[in-house]
Amino acid sequence: MAMGKDHCGVFGIVHPEAAELTYLGIFALQHRGQESAGIATSNGGRIMCHKAMGLVGNVFTDETINKLKNPNAIGHVRYSTTGSSAPINAQPLVAEYSQGELAIAHNGNIINAPLIRHHYEQQGHIFHTTSDTEVIFHMLADPEHIAVDDSLGHILGDLQGAFSLVFLTADKVIAARDPFGLRPLCIGEIDGHYCVASETCAFDVIGAKYVRDVEPGEIIQIDERGYKSRFFVTPEQRAEEGLKPAHCVFEHVYFADPASRVFGFNVHTTRYKMGQCLAKEHPADADVVISVPDSGRCAAMGYSDASGIKYVRGFVRSHYVGRTFIQPSQRLRDLSVKMKLNVIRPSVDAKRVVVVDDSIVRGTTTLGKMRALRAAGAKEIHLRISSPPVRWPCYFGVDFPTTKELIASERSVEEIRQFLEIDSLGYISAEGMLDCMDLPADHFCKACFTGQYPTPVDPQVGKFSQERRQLNLF
Ligand code: SF4
Repeated sequence: MAMGKDHCGVFGIVHPEAAELTYLGIFALQHRGQESAGIATSNGGRIMCHKAMGLVGNVFTDETINKLKNPNAIGHVRYSTTGSSAPINAQPLVAEYSQGELAIAHNGNIINAPLIRHHYEQQGHIFHTTSDTEVIFHMLADPEHIAVDDSLGHILGDLQGAFSLVFLTADKVIAARDPFGLRPLCIGEIDGHYCVASETCAFDVIGAKYVRDVEPGEIIQIDERGYKSRFFVTPEQRAEEGLKPAHCVFEHVYFADPASRVFGFNVHTTRYKMGQCLAKEHPADADVVISVPDSGRCAAMGYSDASGIKYVRGFVRSHYVGRTFIQPSQRLRDLSVKMKLNVIRPSVDAKRVVVVDDSIVRGTTTLGKMRALRAAGAKEIHLRISSPPVRWPCYFGVDFPTTKELIASERSVEEIRQFLEIDSLGYISAEGMLDCMDLPADHFCKACFTGQYPTPVDPQVGKFSQERRQLNLF
């Protein structure tokens, strides 16, 4: 896929070895963002933080982890979707205000952040980053918000868009998820201590057990005694308003690790079923099935099993391409494809090839791959895509280009096939894709396929923010 590589991954834990476990946790979430990495820790006093541009393995050393040895920790890996790719925007963000010191790590995109920022800038507030996440500090520090019970719940009700958030205070970790549950966030348990992560693959790496997902609209507070839950939008309010979850389908199509359980069910299994569905919806007369690594692999296996066409390895992917090659420019993206993927000639030479990929965004990267297959001798190329055509931009933390740059926004499938210089092209249907998920179809966001966004309307947000919970935050 040619979109910006993923968005962000978050992790939080209270444990005697919190710094080390957070390092391993964000290492496991590296596929969700490779621009910057950071860890913040605390032990009842000041927050310590280390963050920098680069991969987790490059940002941290034994020495930096040793300096962070404290029992409360949060971590973050980032790909910029809002705010530029710059060291200043690396997370966790740390700030101090009248109620104490606080660190925040965020996955998602707060779509009303520009309005909120404008509001505070008019009052003379100074912002230190260009990240949407920073508005949360300003809202929390607002005397009007400090005055209410559960100030965090209060301000979360005013945010629109996608947020899976982890906070660190002097003595606890707090996690929260937007009322639509757009991005994943789950709770794990290790040695009687609790942690949260974007995906369960982080739990697997540290030996934690999956407990459950953080519910949409829920706040989880973790300290050494365990965890407590409260809601800033209760399930009853959601039912009353007819609010359904809007989980991002692309988490299952592309972003998440195949080993992870996301939105409560396994990613590999979903992708495998999508491949089976594609074989039924778009059969092909071919000699081999290959995948575009890595996210196309599970679907290609499903396609192969359902069609009886042998699955072979057609591309080799270099795992050693670092962040230099995920720069958000077209020229570097093109170079990065060449660096990342090489064709195994004997697998495709003189063969009719089914290629399974997860999506086509701009089309230029896919064209490069198709040409590489042709150059390696592929006789026929039948491309199968395990998501419907992406026609609309995403406002919830996925770096799709503008509508104009999306190849499917103004082209038919046949026109795209011609552009890609291939013999046939088949996209999975929206119904077929949603049938592969273990939750009802109306529990997912499909806005980039349909243009229908699950954005909350203002009266709902206003209503939620007026609810006052009987809990104090800090
Ligand atoms: S618009 Fe698409 S990519 Fe964005 S959250 Fe919705 S389903 Fe996911």
